[in-house]
Amino acid sequence: HQKIEYEPYRKDFYVEVPELAKMSPEEVNVHRLDLEGIAVKGKGCPKPIKSWVQCGTSMKILSALKRHSYEKPTPIQAQAIPAIMSGRDLIGIAKTGSGKTIAFLLPMYRHIMDQRPLEEAEGPIAVIMTPTRELALQITKECKKFSKPLNLRVVCVYGGTGISEQIAELKRGAEIIVCTPGRMIDMLGANSGRVTNLRRATYVVVDEADRMFDMGFEPQVYIDTIIGHILSYRQTVMFSATFPRAMEALARRILSKPIEVQVGGRSVVCSDVEQHVLVIEEDQKFLKLLEILGHYQEKGSVIIFVDKQEHADGLLKDLMKASYPCMSLHGGIDQYDRDSVINDFKNGACRLMVATSVAARGLDIKQLILVVNYNCPNHYEDYVHRAGRTGRAGNKGFAYTFITDEQARYAGDIIKALELSGSPVPKELEQLWLSFKNQRQAEGKSIKSSSGFSGKGFKFDETEHALAN
Ligand code: ADP
Ligand code: MG
Repeated sequence: HQKIEYEPYRKDFYVEVPELAKMSPEEVNVHRLDLEGIAVKGKGCPKPIKSWVQCGTSMKILSALKRHSYEKPTPIQAQAIPAIMSGRDLIGIAKTGSGKTIAFLLPMYRHIMDQRPLEEAEGPIAVIMTPTRELALQITKECKKFSKPLNLRVVCVYGGTGISEQIAELKRGAEIIVCTPGRMIDMLGANSGRVTNLRRATYVVVDEADRMFDMGFEPQVYIDTIIGHILSYRQTVMFSATFPRAMEALARRILSKPIEVQVGGRSVVCSDVEQHVLVIEEDQKFLKLLEILGHYQEKGSVIIFVDKQEHADGLLKDLMKASYPCMSLHGGIDQYDRDSVINDFKNGACRLMVATSVAARGLDIKQLILVVNYNCPNHYEDYVHRAGRTGRAGNKGFAYTFITDEQARYAGDIIKALELSGSPVPKELEQLWLSFKNQRQAEGKSIKSSSGFSGKGFKFDETEHALAN
């Protein structure tokens, strides 16, 4: 099919509405946590939408949504729809029943309606693959709720029953095919390729991808074969309830620079960790730290987290001066010394350590009683990861976090972390976040943050990042 000249087509339809445009990266982040904890990977993901009108879909679809009492987007829909509408390939992971079908259907209609109508003997514009006949029928049913008012035709192609009726339907033409991969292969080969073809196909969905893998090797081969019939500058999206490792290889083969959207996969701080957050002035922090150490140090080992290497070394000196024997762990220390620091800390030879997040990633220290965030973590995952160093294996642990007025932008994430783990939120922290939001509103613009919440994922400082990889 390389020889055929393909027509260019449009796949980027998304225009962000002002209400979303004015949200700051911090507010977006908190909003994603509100939506059952949406986690996004990949560059340039649009913000999640809050209502159907914000995705820029047609009146006919809006009224169909209303007719079926789909009042507002579910979390996976809120994030996946603008991402797909902006032309991106996507992996969407959300549990069963979370509304994944609509998440790939709505952008599909916009995609199809933008193209010239099908001519005689032209195959579908959208191909939706799913592992079983039941799922194919279910998607077809959902699809018809919208395709009817739009005058689009859907054909469901699945094995196990007579092929002739499906062939007849296909020959009449359809913009959308919902299929199981095996039967679709049969169709492509039927009657020397005169039943249908994928020359017009530009929108491809692999739904319930994890279940394709449960069904063995064959479906994967079929998917590859079908995709082999479709031009390479198609738009491809993949949805699944889980994301097993085996799926990654398929994703890499068929998707191009995908955005990954996961709903509900976020970790929370374990309830065995007692969490404290103190809104505090920068110059009060060291004294407060000594006070906390005085209280806990006899009870077990302690990690103090800082944001930068220089701060680790500075704090180390100050603690030594205050007669606290301690070590530091960060990316500037060579591997050999890092190993010996970790060893000394694990066997209790030294029970106080100043560390950066990345250096302490994955550390499992049984007698760790206390974590102090001397510098406030700049995103949700980092907070959870740091606090999660303690309270392990059923032991009680404590986490203290210092946050200054200048760090107000991080307060939203920390509030979420407290809420999601069932911990009380201190009034001062709530206040800090409120005043940050009010200030932003008063300025009428989004405050640029250095923490890189917006799609690229969080940033550590450069040397630490090198260590993480
Ligand atoms: P999944 O594929 O994630 O398992 P489905 O797409 O099959 O979930 O949707 C599950 C149910 O939720 C379906 O009955 C569907 O009609 C309904 N549904 C989907 N989106 C919405 C919405 N935004 N509001 C209300 N109900 C919805
Ligand atoms: Mg589904």
